[in-house]
Amino acid sequence: MAPRPMPYLDQLNPAQREAVEKLDGPVLMLAGAGTGKTKALTARIVHLLNTNRARPNEILAVTFTNKAAREMKNRVGNMLGHQIEGVPWLGTFHAICVKLLRRHAELVGLKSNFTILDTDDQLRLLKQLVAAANIDDKRWPARQLASLIDGWKNRALTPEKLPAADAGAYNHMGGQLYAQYQTRLKELNAVDFGDLLLHMVTIFQDHPDVLANYQRWFRYILVDEYQDTNVAQYLWLRLLASAHKNICCVGDDDQSIYGWRGAEVGNILRFEKDFPGAHVVRLEQNYRSTGNILAAASNVIRGNENRLGKELWTEADMGEKVRLIGHWDGDEEARWVGEEVEAMQRGTRGSDPKSLEDMAILVRASHQMRAFEDRFLTIGLPYRVIGGPRFYERLEIRDAMAYFRVVVSPDDDLAFERIVNTPKRGLGNVAQQKIQTSARANGVSLVEGARILLEEKGIGGKGAKELGILIDGIDRWRKQGTAPVIEVPLDDDDVIDDGVTQTTMRLQEGHAELNHVELAQVILDEAGYTAMWQNDKTPEAPGRLENLKELVKALEGFDNLQGFLEHVSLIMDNESEDAEQKISIMTLHAAKGLEFPAVFLPGWEDGLFPSQRSMDETGIKGLEEERRLAYVGITRAEEICTISFAGNRRVFGQWQNQMPSRFIDELSDENVEVLTPPGLYGHSGGSRDSGGGFGQSGLESSAMKADGYNSPGWKRLQSRAGQYGTSQPKESKAAAIDLTAVSSFTVGDRVFHQKFGYGAVTGIEGDKLTINFEKAGEKKVVARFISATDD
Ligand code: ATP
Ligand code: MG
Repeated sequence: MAPRPMPYLDQLNPAQREAVEKLDGPVLMLAGAGTGKTKALTARIVHLLNTNRARPNEILAVTFTNKAAREMKNRVGNMLGHQIEGVPWLGTFHAICVKLLRRHAELVGLKSNFTILDTDDQLRLLKQLVAAANIDDKRWPARQLASLIDGWKNRALTPEKLPAADAGAYNHMGGQLYAQYQTRLKELNAVDFGDLLLHMVTIFQDHPDVLANYQRWFRYILVDEYQDTNVAQYLWLRLLASAHKNICCVGDDDQSIYGWRGAEVGNILRFEKDFPGAHVVRLEQNYRSTGNILAAASNVIRGNENRLGKELWTEADMGEKVRLIGHWDGDEEARWVGEEVEAMQRGTRGSDPKSLEDMAILVRASHQMRAFEDRFLTIGLPYRVIGGPRFYERLEIRDAMAYFRVVVSPDDDLAFERIVNTPKRGLGNVAQQKIQTSARANGVSLVEGARILLEEKGIGGKGAKELGILIDGIDRWRKQGTAPVIEVPLDDDDVIDDGVTQTTMRLQEGHAELNHVELAQVILDEAGYTAMWQNDKTPEAPGRLENLKELVKALEGFDNLQGFLEHVSLIMDNESEDAEQKISIMTLHAAKGLEFPAVFLPGWEDGLFPSQRSMDETGIKGLEEERRLAYVGITRAEEICTISFAGNRRVFGQWQNQMPSRFIDELSDENVEVLTPPGLYGHSGGSRDSGGGFGQSGLESSAMKADGYNSPGWKRLQSRAGQYGTSQPKESKAAAIDLTAVSSFTVGDRVFHQKFGYGAVTGIEGDKLTINFEKAGEKKVVARFISATDD
């Protein structure tokens, strides 16, 4: 057979080619942002296929988000030059593990149609366990237990393996409650997110035959963003790769930003130890950003002590400098960004016109999104929120999905609890308690418990009648949605060979009475759920009905309800695939691996970015992770990068006085241009060059002229000037801030008290300050016991 052409190799530099062509044995590509790691990884998949080293289903490729997986799939097709069926095992850790776990669920005491709980369900379940254990939820919030359990799962610790020190957490009950929680999940035939990995690691560890099978099947393993794997993911990969060692990992220690979720940057640094003889490839040429952007980012990350240290270079022009601008408040910032976006669209910003698809706003905290969403709605600028408060998290959507869940999985008690009295059916606490008791006494699900309760006439009146209707409804919907099927188990070889990912083959006899889209509509209507919102007179009701319609519409893209429910529980990004051009709004975390010609980075203020938590921490670990996040943010930009901060910001309903981020101080002078905030200089007619705006505020400083923008004093002054200046923008919420205070403190100031710790001034009366302490709550304290603080 004539060798196939390999045009994809010509698009790579020598170092990338090396990583692509070295197909056997362990390979590590450790390189900075935008150096083409993902591109090389994609080319490697293509090369494996093109050289017949592997068939599509023998490649296991892990990406960090579903979006990245989709993109990679598309690119593989394009690079290969001919369409392939797809690479079935290309996806996120979670998506891949769901598929695997469905095949082997019984090995961990689950059925293959298990439900994936979301964090809401998880919390509800934990609350029940905490209450049953007579623990005061106020002192020991269930949320805290949830995050402990997540942490343990990220470290691949089952209840049995939990070290004593961990088990003693949460009022000495942590280990016990964790075990109870796992038992309860099994009873519910459910898993949480962390279980997907944990169960698979357990299965691989306890069943060497199963592991050996997959070691043979997945002949080549590839992992993107390796720096953000947690221990469970790391163990899972190591188990799979330990036989053939054909594993290629790519990552960047400077972009490790999920430490808070259990990621261990150590995994990437340890690769050469785990896989002796690993071939290490370093890439240094950045293909993404202009010189100024790259230099600014490099200068920021240089502030970290714990890093390998890599230097990047680019052939690109210096391009525009990174733009820095301060605003009066968050709304003003959003307004300005809106105008900039429109100017860039028109091409009046000095560069070629840009499409909205070319722009992104990357925020540190999701609460920052609202101001942008509001502003864009006002001016009619199409936008999409990626990974933000999602469509599927809305109340009516969650209710509707709970109905679907009950119909798909009869054991899904949490879903049943959610819908049993929604709409109101006269089934209040007492009735629900009876259902719970009946279920527990008989060792069955709530639906079955309710059925028994009705048969035994343990409940009467309107409630009994309504409950009867609901249970009948559930039975009926289930029947209407299922074609009579015989399930034929497939043996594992079949499963892999045809690239399909099912445990069983469903031989259908005839058709279901309703397809899943019709069924969904019937469920919502017959359950009275649609009517509930039609009769609701609140202003939100019409929107909720719209959303329900949208939900039913979304079902069309799936084969069945279960597939849809699975999709929803797995998506990390909800960007719609529609054709309209939109600007993207997302968190910095969600932006990893992506690139945009123009990037806006708002909210660079101490306390917001870096986050308050990272600043309060002793040690530099948290702050270094924030700095990596800053590096990730800047390096997403190809041509234009705009950083902004506001002097005032409303955080959780409270006005706070903000100081520019310490990371702004770390941007290299020569790569930055300071823009004039229109609100600040508007009335004086001054500009940055004349420095006019500050004169009026009485805060003009020689430091400002002498050191330029880069002196910390200048920036703090700029922020101050925003508060005291006469040129506040009209819409500003300045009135909320007590500007007349004679004490040296201002409402919103961040302060420190020896005993109570850090807090924010919320009120001033003579020499007494009301302070909202982060740990101690609100207290009145005499001013001389308080010190102002910047950290
Ligand atoms: P990140 O660390 O942000 O994930 P990365 O190292 O994965 O970045 P890629 O996203 O693969 O980098 O590549 C960055 C950009 O550079 C992409 O637009 C890619 O197409 C381009 N690129 C990569 N390698 C080359 C090359 N050899 N020649 C030209 N362009 C390249
Ligand atoms: Mg990448």
